[in-house]
Amino acid sequence: MEIRIAGLTKDFSSEGKRIRALDHVDLTIPANRIFTLLGPSGCGKTTLLRCIVGLESPDSGEIAIGDEIVLSKERSIFVPPEKRGLGMVFQTYAIWPHMNVFDNVAYPLKSRNTPMEEIRIRVAKALAFVQMEGFETRPSTKLSGGQQQRVALARALVAEPKVILFDEPLSNLDAKLREETRKELRRFLTELNITAVYVTHDRVEALALSDRIAVMRAGRIVEVGDPKKIYFRSDSRFVADFIGRANLLRGRVVMLEDAHAVIDTDIGTIVGLNSQKIAPGQEAVLCVRPEFIKLAATGAAGGRNIFRGKVETLLFTGEAYEGEIRIGDTLVTTTISPTVPVAEGGELFLSFDPDHCFLLPA
Ligand code: ADP
Ligand code: MG
Repeated sequence: MEIRIAGLTKDFSSEGKRIRALDHVDLTIPANRIFTLLGPSGCGKTTLLRCIVGLESPDSGEIAIGDEIVLSKERSIFVPPEKRGLGMVFQTYAIWPHMNVFDNVAYPLKSRNTPMEEIRIRVAKALAFVQMEGFETRPSTKLSGGQQQRVALARALVAEPKVILFDEPLSNLDAKLREETRKELRRFLTELNITAVYVTHDRVEALALSDRIAVMRAGRIVEVGDPKKIYFRSDSRFVADFIGRANLLRGRVVMLEDAHAVIDTDIGTIVGLNSQKIAPGQEAVLCVRPEFIKLAATGAAGGRNIFRGKVETLLFTGEAYEGEIRIGDTLVTTTISPTVPVAEGGELFLSFDPDHCFLLPA
């Protein structure tokens, strides 16, 4: 089911101060896709999710889930959470300590008077998904944090709701389990063909899990797009910087060359994609990610987008070296294959891929 949000604003007051948690949010969340709200802590992700669920009452705006308007301040409509047909998994553990695993997961079905036979089948399926088979009779208090969260996930999925919402559900799992669960979650949600709204501050999680991402900042939606668009061609400096490691070089556009522009920066003249059509004479920021800065042969000196630099630091991360290279007064971050013979203090030439350098408004 599609979710449409218009003009949503929510203020909190805390210690006499007013905090605008949501600032005129307009957003369409497409049906049957994994949609992620991504942004730094405090930007309003949880508040937006709670407004969709009905746990928070906004100051203005409208929310429609499918054909039904569940909230309209103007028309005084407020559909309570239990009538919105949603499933939710919270950041903090939300399972009942006085119930065992089976009863926790079965709860949403029991409260709907589902026949016991069907409850058993569906609980077993949900527990299998979260790799918790055999835990049915375990008291909830005898589970680790990660296991509790997986039970919460199973409970949200068991009733196969039309929309499922997640608030940083994997943040309490260890790194390996988090990666596995992310993969499983993507597969399961895709199979279920369900509308999923997922909140995280973890950019890698957002990129790996989502069909579409909305990046939030200070109560507003800054940009919406599929993961590749957000990563390779973000529209703003904030998003480019937030979604991945980025070298951001300030400069002034010198001239245009079809889809590209030549920009004068502190390290020299660079050619990059100019999809936002920034005019000559204008200030701009050139963004290039570390993986698109390659080592060039010494003989390439003087070529386009090629710069001489000195290795300042070299950090071995397993898959690669993360190198900080000084070009003039500027430090540039680049990813270097661990098989390349480089050393701190050494000189090298770097080549910037013009199709992966992109210009952003300053
Ligand atoms: P996020 O989930 O992105 O970290 P939140 O939606 O939790 O952000 O919070 C957005 C802003 O609203 C923050 O500044 C937060 O401190 C504030 N806020 C959230 N809930 C309350 C509340 N119940 N009372 C006062 N301020 C709140
Ligand atoms: Mg939050």
